[in-house]
Amino acid sequence: MMLMKRAVFLDRDGVINKDLLTTKRLKIFPNAGRAVKMLNGLGFVVVVVTNQPQIAKGIQRESDIRKINKEIAQRLRKDGARIDAVYYCPHHPEKRTDIPDWARKYRIKCRCRKPDTGMLLKAKKKFDIDFSSSYLIGDRTVDIKCGKNIGCTTILVKTGHAGEDGKYDVKPDYICADIFEAAKFITAEEKADKNIKAIILAGGRGERLRPLTDKLPKPLIPINGKPVLWHQMMLLKKYGIRDIVICGHYLFDKIKKYFGNGKKFGVNITYVFEKEPLGTGGAIKNAERLIKNTSIVIYGDEMIEMDISRLLRFHKTKSGLATIVAHKTDHPEDSDLVEINKGGLVTGFFPKGSEKKGLKISKSSVYAIEPAAFKFIEDKCDFDRTVLPKLINKKAAFGYLTDEYIKDMGTFERYEQVRKRFGKTGTNGKTNKAARHTDDL
Ligand SMILES: [Mg+2]
Ligand SMILES: [Zn+2]
Repeated sequence: MMLMKRAVFLDRDGVINKDLLTTKRLKIFPNAGRAVKMLNGLGFVVVVVTNQPQIAKGIQRESDIRKINKEIAQRLRKDGARIDAVYYCPHHPEKRTDIPDWARKYRIKCRCRKPDTGMLLKAKKKFDIDFSSSYLIGDRTVDIKCGKNIGCTTILVKTGHAGEDGKYDVKPDYICADIFEAAKFITAEEKADKNIKAIILAGGRGERLRPLTDKLPKPLIPINGKPVLWHQMMLLKKYGIRDIVICGHYLFDKIKKYFGNGKKFGVNITYVFEKEPLGTGGAIKNAERLIKNTSIVIYGDEMIEMDISRLLRFHKTKSGLATIVAHKTDHPEDSDLVEINKGGLVTGFFPKGSEKKGLKISKSSVYAIEPAAFKFIEDKCDFDRTVLPKLINKKAAFGYLTDEYIKDMGTFERYEQVRKRFGKTGTNGKTNKAARHTDDL
């Protein structure tokens, strides 16, 4: 996985400056420079994406637009702010003849006009941007729709049209008074995320994967040449989570030897050893002293491809003690099922083999938990069977329903499926490679 950049996409008119259709002179909002500077400081690529249909309407030439864009960038620079790129769409899809000849060529259906995503994709080509951890700030529903189309977090500002253009029926993720408040909000989000740790439960014996797991702990099982635990770390790192607590017992030294303090991999690892297996709940409890904030809990034998930021946002908005990631299952008979109400509250948990009332939502082994949840956890227990029911009773467990990829590799069959998905080549002969990999460790 490559280290992609994160961006903040800014609409221009109504966000950075007063709408130029209503004021003839360029008026930049007073705190816009400070706001952009803050975003620069957080390490974001700052990209302006603006629809400029006046060109297609014959009111302004492209050269005029470029001049204004340059002027804006220069004025922001005086405040120490940097715009990394500006993209504009000069088009309009409507065919018209009552316009100057030179403007007619702009009367086309294009992919760059928001809410379409052409301009953002161009930026991705240049900067290698990860959209899911990026933001888009705009003043119209067309901006918000565009951000949703590409999968950014969207912020509507109450300047400019303030979202009252009524063109699209979309809800922004957040609403801020202006670009400066939006930058402050993003700063707060970044800080909050930095304090978030991950707890990886790496203790299982892996009975069903013997003999592979006789010498190799499950978290070191290779997928495409790297341990599954490595893939998890890279995913966490992508979402800004660098503090990782690994709890384990079985062949724990091999895990320690491979990852060390994590520096080599760009993360900080703390190991919590269990003298005896404590169960999933007990393992989490064992890490209590290290956890002061929200944390993400995952099992060390799962391949995961999910948007951790989105999960954390859901978790924060629900204000429960735990959020359980859940998905639709086509084999409810041998799954741990949960019942989730319309508000996202988990109202029931039905472990494998219990009466299930036709439910088809199963829980995964990814959680977000609050430190306050620790008091419901005993020193030695299974999290799902003993802690979860208590949290459900307290109306403190929420269910995050998603179809993102989460697959445990507890059996050879499932391991094979994961390898098929992530391996470069076919699967035959890979078992041998895995065995060789075992010896390397
Ligand atoms: Mg605008
Ligand atoms: Zn266009």
